[in-house]
Amino acid sequence: MNLETDNTVVKSTFNPADYVDDQHWGVINYLRSRPQLRTIPNHIEGVLSSIEAGEQALNHEIKSQIQLSIIQAARRAIELELAPMAERRKFEQRLAYMIAREVVPKYGAFDKSIKDLPGKLSNCRQCGKIGVDTGGDKRFFWDTKCNCSKICPDEMRYESQRLTEKYIPHMLMHLNANRRLKLQKFVISPRNVPKEKLHEAKSRLFKTWANINRRKVCEHLTGALVVQEDPLAAGDETWNVHLNVLVLVGGHFNWSAFRSEFARMWGDEDVQIDFVTEHRMKQLTEAKLRRQGRTEPATRELVLIHSINEMVKYVCKISGSDHQHSDDGNHDGDVNTADGSAKGSRSRKIEARPMDKWPGERFYEWFSANRGFRRTRSYGVLYNVPVQSEEEREVEWFGFVKWNDQVDRYEVHTSFIGLIPADKFATQTHTKPTNQQNWRPPDG
Ligand SMILES: [Zn+2]
Repeated sequence: MNLETDNTVVKSTFNPADYVDDQHWGVINYLRSRPQLRTIPNHIEGVLSSIEAGEQALNHEIKSQIQLSIIQAARRAIELELAPMAERRKFEQRLAYMIAREVVPKYGAFDKSIKDLPGKLSNCRQCGKIGVDTGGDKRFFWDTKCNCSKICPDEMRYESQRLTEKYIPHMLMHLNANRRLKLQKFVISPRNVPKEKLHEAKSRLFKTWANINRRKVCEHLTGALVVQEDPLAAGDETWNVHLNVLVLVGGHFNWSAFRSEFARMWGDEDVQIDFVTEHRMKQLTEAKLRRQGRTEPATRELVLIHSINEMVKYVCKISGSDHQHSDDGNHDGDVNTADGSAKGSRSRKIEARPMDKWPGERFYEWFSANRGFRRTRSYGVLYNVPVQSEEEREVEWFGFVKWNDQVDRYEVHTSFIGLIPADKFATQTHTKPTNQQNWRPPDG
């Protein structure tokens, strides 16, 4: 391998100090001023690990060919991720701007969480470290994250991953242990709810679901994972509150009876329920894989991953869409309805605007209704399942990532890779960069 072909060149403008958040110096000063401190508060511990990762990245050395190729592969994977990451960040910044302009002036004075929100969102994933773990997977260590799992597209991806890791092993275990169990997906969409009524509708919809589960019509529903979505519908006057349900069915299930029972309990006969069979879910997953250029068969695990991703993604949908599931083709085709006919989904007619285009009042209604609201719930054999914790992998931090405001994209810098001539590889010792003192605490 010719190391010179690696195009990772340290730019002359690269200054490690730019990659360090002011907060870090604050933490160092805090710790200095309290030498008697025995336990370190959690949030400070996070910043300390971030500093440690930064120092590791700054002093990173390549010691072997194998290490080099692992890092090059991780760096390539990271670079592929930069464009979609930039789209997510731009959305989050537009959202922060909308909230600052439309929501904070009206509600910020008495609601601190609204007042702080634009700042939190616009600082989210501004800069961080990049690395590779012992499994060869790329890793990011962000200095600041907004932690707003319901409105941040990056946090939502993380949430989806967390659900996948938590529930899929249990779902597969039950499906494999009991051949009679079937996997299905329900989308339960009542008539749109008028503005000002979102909060009430959200709780009542989950209550209706929980109540119908105690009825005979649901006797064969063994377990369910339910995600509630509540986008603003076209026209900005109503909410499209609905439930996405992944369910394990262990016997005969009467769709028609379920539909009328649900409508009766909800108190409105206009409730649309789409029942999607595992066969159909598999077809949709296969179509998605083909679009991604992947040729492997849609295993049950892939079908589950795909379905869970679909269930949590709409709220933060970055661009407007004429159909909430259009990205995926989910529901585009025929869905099985209780009367056996193929009908389009109600959601197909909706031209919902993305959240950053919502009117301020509606955003505030949504934000208040979702505060402290658990939008993901599980039932039956999936209730309260333990998370199968994977072993923590060690990470080698080898570089930095930073948002460039001028060009609206992320840039990745690695300190030393590519500066090492191939022939000197084995014996190379790195000289520290002249600007490294910028990294250290002023009198450290
Ligand atoms: Zn965020």
